Amino acid sequence: MSFIKCLNVQGGMIYRHFLAVILPLISVLLALGAGPVKAADGNAFTAIRTGSVLVGDVPATRLVIEMAEPINATLFLLDEPYRLVLDVAGANWDAGQLLPLGQLDEAGLKSYRYGRPNPETGRLVFEMSGPSAPVQAFLLPPRDNGGHRLVIDVQDNGKTAFSVAKAALKKQPYIAEVTDARIASTATQAVSTAAPADDAAMPQGRVVDITGPAPRPKRWVVMIDAGHGGKDSGALGATGLVEKQVTLKAARLLASKLNQTGLVIAKLTRDDDTYLKLRQRIDVARRAKADLFISLHADAFHKASARGMSVFSLSDSASDKEAAYIAQQENKADLIGGPDLVGEDPVAANELLRMFQRESMNESAYLADSILLQIKDLPGGDKRGHRFAGFAVLKSPDIPSVLVEMGFLTNKIDESNLRKTAYLDKLTGRLNRAIISYLQQSGR
Ligand SMILES: [Zn+2]
Repeated sequence: MSFIKCLNVQGGMIYRHFLAVILPLISVLLALGAGPVKAADGNAFTAIRTGSVLVGDVPATRLVIEMAEPINATLFLLDEPYRLVLDVAGANWDAGQLLPLGQLDEAGLKSYRYGRPNPETGRLVFEMSGPSAPVQAFLLPPRDNGGHRLVIDVQDNGKTAFSVAKAALKKQPYIAEVTDARIASTATQAVSTAAPADDAAMPQGRVVDITGPAPRPKRWVVMIDAGHGGKDSGALGATGLVEKQVTLKAARLLASKLNQTGLVIAKLTRDDDTYLKLRQRIDVARRAKADLFISLHADAFHKASARGMSVFSLSDSASDKEAAYIAQQENKADLIGGPDLVGEDPVAANELLRMFQRESMNESAYLADSILLQIKDLPGGDKRGHRFAGFAVLKSPDIPSVLVEMGFLTNKIDESNLRKTAYLDKLTGRLNRAIISYLQQSGR
């Protein structure tokens, strides 16, 4: 089921909890002195609905926030505990019998509460049971007798995805996308609120105390992607070494080293001679809630003199001609699998995911630097450095991702090194150190 279909079931599934959160307790409300406040001017929250949908074939929780006037909101995330916060200038609470705070019976969502962190701001806080982050958000025009609606779909893609989203939203407030031209003129004014202070969003009267840093509850998940596989052999070496075999051997060595640290659970996108499309490699990483993605390659170039190691991260424009060429060659892997019916890049059309991708691109650059520091004394390790290009396999919007070219199979020295288990052992030892160092410094 696509989210478009969901949008057509107004009054249907996605609104099924509307009644559940309307508590006919108006007398209690009045007794508490927390009764609905009519907005003299400005906006007001008028309803909240929750439900479940599929976003990119993955279950997500949908929040629909309804307001009296066109919505001009700032969206951001807080942790300890995990919260999704929506600030709307001057917004009051005017939701009839719906209390300004309550429990939510929806996957990943525990409760909501309305508050005024300052006289100018109406704030809606959703407390979540895990590190869920928004994966898409959009505005819908008012219904005949209803208000303006902001739809936010959240998914739990792990702690790293959450912290990437949190950092991106802190740097740049989210502005909801308009899906209907009728409200385009009023609903997309830029939000100018500065990045909010964490303490401003603390709940009133129900503060969760955090006593000291909690021990890290789980091991990081590192997804190692052995380039190519199956009918896609990758590059062929000057004396016959096959790229897909080198990458798998290196991936297994790296996984074993990472697992031995006790800090990481290493996973492989493929552990045999299987063909995978580039998008599938990303999907495997996201399903595993990976904290980091590293794709291993050893490629070819038309000049046999080209040698040495490169660490690539994603960018819109390539850092140099050779980087652009290598990315183009790598992206061709998908063509071998026949026509791609999905075709569309899910990030391209989604403003939130574009923001998260920029943040994970920053993180990927730190990871690349950490790797370069460790490999600089290996043969060709200081020759080519950190470079950028549009590699399709690095397009996870919320997972720091790098691609390591371990050497050129078209160069005799590189090929001879990559043929030796002792060399791959040394190389993956350095990658292991770089990854652990990056993860420890990330503070996640
Ligand atoms: Zn390759």
